[in-house]
Amino acid sequence: LNLNHIQVEVGTAVLESFLSCHICSETFRDPVTLKCNHNFCSSCLKTLWEQTQRKNCPICKKKSSKKH
Ligand SMILES: [Zn+2]
Ligand SMILES: [Zn+2]
Repeated sequence: LNLNHIQVEVGTAVLESFLSCHICSETFRDPVTLKCNHNFCSSCLKTLWEQTQRKNCPICKKKSSKKH
């Protein structure tokens, strides 16, 4: 049993889920970060925003325009 190998795999899985787009569930392509610090593929966001006509974050529903 190689524990080092297991730790590497767990670490990679976490990293991959962190690096996955919430819209397409795939690894980011051309990632963009919104003001709320959520990340999406730029193409996914573009498509979503064209459909909804509201530039809100699909995760937290915050507007991407400036907050604070
Ligand atoms: Zn995506
Ligand atoms: Zn968000």
